[in-house]
Amino acid sequence: MTMATTTKPLRILLLGGTTEAATLAERLAKAENIEATLSLAGRTANPAASKLPMRVGGFGGSDGLADYLRQQKIDLLIDATHPFAAQMSANAVAAADITNVPLLAIERQAWTPVEGDNWIEYDSVDAAIAALPSEPEDVFSGLGRQAIDALCRAPQHRYLIRVVDPLELPCELINSELIAARGPFQTGEDARLFADYNIRYVLAKNAGGGATYAKIEAARQLGITVHMVRRPAIPDRKTVASADEAMAWIATHHRARSDLGV
Ligand code: NAP
Repeated sequence: MTMATTTKPLRILLLGGTTEAATLAERLAKAENIEATLSLAGRTANPAASKLPMRVGGFGGSDGLADYLRQQKIDLLIDATHPFAAQMSANAVAAADITNVPLLAIERQAWTPVEGDNWIEYDSVDAAIAALPSEPEDVFSGLGRQAIDALCRAPQHRYLIRVVDPLELPCELINSELIAARGPFQTGEDARLFADYNIRYVLAKNAGGGATYAKIEAARQLGITVHMVRRPAIPDRKTVASADEAMAWIATHHRARSDLGV
C-alpha cells in the first residue's frame, strides 16, 4: 500500500499471536508512512520473527492498555488475536472506548460441521472434557497448553496432547503423551497419528482457519467423535475477516487524515 508521505505517520498497535496477525505485520512493515508495533502475550518460547518492532507481555488490563495507547500516541488499534483470546479482545474494546482510538478486529470464520462430521459442541473446555465417557478412552487433545489442568480433572483417559512448546506433563497424566509441534498440520498425517494411537475422541476449540483444521478432517475420515468447544463471547466491535480487509480499513483512516491535513 502506498500512503501519502506529507502526513504524519499513522501509529498502529497490532495485537497478535495468529497467522492473520503475522500476515498483516508483513504488509504493514512494507507500507509507507506507517509506524506499527506488534504485541504478543509471550506464551510461546520462540515466536515467529516479524519485521515489525515487537513488544511482549500483558498491558495490565484495559486501563493499562488505554495508558499504553495514550502514551504511545496510537492512532489505530487492531486486534488480530486468537478467537479464544477473549480477555485480551474484551480489554481492547474497553480501552478503545476509554481512549476513542478506532478499533478493528480480524475475526476468522468459525468452522461449521459438514457431512460426515460427528461433532458434539460445548460452551467450555471443562464441559467438553467432562462429557467424555467415564471409562478410560484414547483421546487427542488439540485444546492447547492452557487446558492441561482441565485434562487432569479426567485423569482416567490416555491423552495424546499436542501443544506448540514442549512441557512436562503433571503426574495425573502419567498415561498420556505429549507432542510439541507447530501447525499447519496435514490431514493425512493427523489421520495416521489418530490411527496409530487408536484415538476415539478429539477435543478441539473452534479456532477456524486452515492451520489446525487437519485434525477435524482426519476425525471425519476415521469416524472419530469431536468434542468441539464453541467460541467465547466477545463484546461488539468492528470486524473484518482478513489481513487484506484490515489494510483497506487502515488506508481509509490514512486518507481521512491526509484530507484533514494532519
Ligand atoms: P487471553 O486469555 O485473552 O489473555 C490473557 C491476558 O494475556 C490478557 O488480558 C493480556 O494481559 C495478555 N495478552 C493476551 N494477548 C496479548 C497480546 N497479543 N499482547 C499483549 N498481551 C496479551 O489470551 P490467551 O488465550 O491467553 O492467548 C494469549 C495469546 O496467545 C494471544 O495473543 C492469542 O492470540 C494467542 N493464541 C491463543 C490461543 C488460544 O487458544 N487461546 C491459540 C493460539 C494463539 P493484560 O490484561 O495484562 O494486558
